[in-house]
Amino acid sequence: MELKIIRSETKKEKPTGKLGFGKYFTDHMFIMEYDGTKWTNARIQPFQNLSLSPASSVLHYAQGVFEGAKAYKNKKGEIRMFRLNDNLDRMNDSAARLCMPTFDKKFVYDAIKQLVLIDEDWIPTEDGTALYIRPTMIATEPALGVHASKTYLMYVIVGPAGAYYANGLAPVKLLVEEHYTRAAKGGTGGHKVIGNYAASMKAGEEARAKGYDQAMWLDAKYHRYVEEVGAMNIFFVMDGIVYTPALRGSILPGITRRSVIALLRSHGYKVRECNVDIRKVADAAEKGTLQEIFGTGTAAVISPVGAFGYRGKEYVVNGGEMGDISKKIYDELTGIQSGRYEDKFGWVDIIK
Ligand SMILES: *Cc1c(COP(=O)(O)O)cnc(C)c1O
Repeated sequence: MELKIIRSETKKEKPTGKLGFGKYFTDHMFIMEYDGTKWTNARIQPFQNLSLSPASSVLHYAQGVFEGAKAYKNKKGEIRMFRLNDNLDRMNDSAARLCMPTFDKKFVYDAIKQLVLIDEDWIPTEDGTALYIRPTMIATEPALGVHASKTYLMYVIVGPAGAYYANGLAPVKLLVEEHYTRAAKGGTGGHKVIGNYAASMKAGEEARAKGYDQAMWLDAKYHRYVEEVGAMNIFFVMDGIVYTPALRGSILPGITRRSVIALLRSHGYKVRECNVDIRKVADAAEKGTLQEIFGTGTAAVISPVGAFGYRGKEYVVNGGEMGDISKKIYDELTGIQSGRYEDKFGWVDIIK
């Protein structure tokens, strides 16, 4: 398939203040259409609204998937794409889970590369900033019967992003959620599908109303084993060993999670992917053997957890400060992303 490029005749004004996350988009977007048998009409075009039938199945039955990746520009002017191939693999897996068509990874990778290069003057260069890349696929058949759509749109929008959390790397407070659940085994929790997020918002709102930043999810069956947090996977350091919930179908297999495990192991840390019992974590906090908790995800990279609430009690982690392992891994991972450190794992593709 050929990629058509239609350049925007105007240029939007670039943001000047705080970038925040997901608020600004560049001048162009990538888009292609699935006509029932094949992907067609692939193009980079000016960023614009979509025109959809109000009967489009994505709007009724949430047949949609997405991804989140980042490209970094450093002071040398290099543009560095971090593990985009892994995102595109995961997107194809998510699409297959929802009976949506998969796509040619290499073609889409090249299209994203071209989009990033066309809008390269939008990529911020300050520490902690990046170009956020949001591939999305949605079902567009105008039909209300509950069945897989025949037609789809796949598009990619990109935009400059600052630090994910308003207070930078300041530790967050999590509320362990014992009533609502995010995902059960056999469901879609292990895929990046849009319906997962609508179902998770209530717990987030209730946590915020109680003074916490987000909910920490437990498993759907026993309400006892930690799963993850919002759009982050989670790690616990207890007695010098790093624990993270094992991927058993209800947890999103984070690319940052995978990268952090590889980095920790390369430094000789013991990392155990297993069940993480919240009662044992609370006990460890009381005994003083809980050293650190941190979340991992593309948006925030590493997000230290300063405290968590569980059954009416608040547990402070590491005096409410970012821990040494969190700091080291944040420095190293962002260093590889931006080019401050050698990319010994081959995670970065320098596209310019
Ligand atoms: C995207 C996401 C993550 C983090 O995945 P990364 O690949 O590291 O960005 C974790 N949990 C959920 C629910 C997510 O949607």
